[in-house]
Amino acid sequence: MRRPFVAGNWKMNMDLLSARSLIQALQLQVGASPRIDIAICPPSVFLHPIRAMLGDSSIRLGAQNCWSAPQGAFTGEVSAAMVKEVGCRYVILGHSERRHTIGPKDASGHVQGETDAMIAAKVKAVLEQGMIPIVCVGETLDERDRNATETVLARQIAGSLAGIELTSGRQIVIAYEPVWAIGTGRTATPEQAQAAHQHIRALLAAKLGAVIAADVRIQYGGSVKPDNAEKLMRNPDVDGALVGGASLKAEDFLGIIQGCIEAKKLG
Ligand code: PEP
Repeated sequence: MRRPFVAGNWKMNMDLLSARSLIQALQLQVGASPRIDIAICPPSVFLHPIRAMLGDSSIRLGAQNCWSAPQGAFTGEVSAAMVKEVGCRYVILGHSERRHTIGPKDASGHVQGETDAMIAAKVKAVLEQGMIPIVCVGETLDERDRNATETVLARQIAGSLAGIELTSGRQIVIAYEPVWAIGTGRTATPEQAQAAHQHIRALLAAKLGAVIAADVRIQYGGSVKPDNAEKLMRNPDVDGALVGGASLKAEDFLGIIQGCIEAKKLG
């Protein structure tokens, strides 16, 4: 059985003081041997102090991104080896907020515009460090409306995992995050989520083989909240959640973890 996995993507939010009280509240409830895997993914400058706050906690640390090259003249970037050195087990890669070529911009109109090829190079770098990439895929609203969801997922899975070979499905996590559900309060229905996850697993089976694909955990992400978590995670191919906004509040994040435990009948 795949071990469910709930991860919190803090994005560019939080300060160290609030992080400390959030972590204390989480640790109190989660305990030493939780029934599912749990991770938090703070901004990169906070990884080191937060690793220290976590101590011997069962809550794991993840980065939100890293660069593909091992070192060199890449001002402002951090390598996979660097995030490993500060204690990360996971690295989120290809989040839609980094893939966008249009959409939310800062005041200068800047977007990251990451391509599948860039993401594949980062996946390789993370795997080489023995960490687990959380590879995000998902369609925009326009793509869903044009019935292009399956085509987009096929392109993203093929491109983001190009040249990647695995010996075990435990080496990688996929996060299905429909872009129209991220930070919008609009969640995929459990049926939409299951259909997309099933399709992703079939794509993984074609690429990596059925045995490996059966072991890959596929998280759902997009406005997951305590009140919708359990229903979403009751689906057989939904193995947990990648949580944005609701991971910033202990009560909400714990509610989602509990929803997952109940959905998977681990309580
Ligand atoms: C995310 O950014 O990965 C995400 C799922 O955000 P939210 O939960 O806020 O929709």
